[in-house]
Amino acid sequence: MDAGHGGPDHGMSGPIGSEHWFVEKDVTLAVARRLAEELRAQGMDVLMTRTSDTLIALSDRGRIANRARGDVFVSIHVNAPGVSNAAGARERGFETYFLAEAKTEDERRVERMENESVRFETGANAPKGDPLSFIITDMAQNEHLRESSDLAATIQDGLRAVHPGPSRGVQQANFAVLRGSYMPAVLVEIGFGTNATEAAYLSDPDNQSRLARNIAGSVVSYLARYESRVGGTR
Ligand SMILES: [Zn+2]
Repeated sequence: MDAGHGGPDHGMSGPIGSEHWFVEKDVTLAVARRLAEELRAQGMDVLMTRTSDTLIALSDRGRIANRARGDVFVSIHVNAPGVSNAAGARERGFETYFLAEAKTEDERRVERMENESVRFETGANAPKGDPLSFIITDMAQNEHLRESSDLAATIQDGLRAVHPGPSRGVQQANFAVLRGSYMPAVLVEIGFGTNATEAAYLSDPDNQSRLARNIAGSVVSYLARYESRVGGTR
């Protein structure tokens, strides 16, 4: 379980057009915490990449999950539009990503935004530059392409039942945070913190629990399906 951003990396802030009171890193942590609680309540082992307001390098987040031999990697984020004007403030809805080449301008925008976190990674936080390791980890995620897209679809479909915003569908982009994990991996944009209505919705603890419970249910049903498949004819 991965709560996006942390420490000096605040992620996006909003809403557009009013004083910025919504901070992505706090909401992602709150939702990821509740998600971990829900999954633990269902008997699953859950490791969180961060449990406090700290910065973890994007490439370390997958590594942490690998060390724990995780079955799935779920990264929680909040969206922001490309423009900070009235049209941007109207953007809302939720979308779930798996790792693959971004195909649309919108996917490329979210990819740029979420990968920007690396600029906070200095000194001890900075990942070692090893071009070969990128190729290897890319291949590792390729192996899980179908599973990741299946997990993304399960989470995205599930959220329709609780989320008031429109479903923006399953999307794909080349997120640094998903690249290093050797397991099915997705990134959920749970809404737009730049939209006043959605920022209020996402800040409400009851709604955070509702979203967490819903995503947890999708993860559990995905894993049950996956296990019955590998346990069966394969
Ligand atoms: Zn983010």
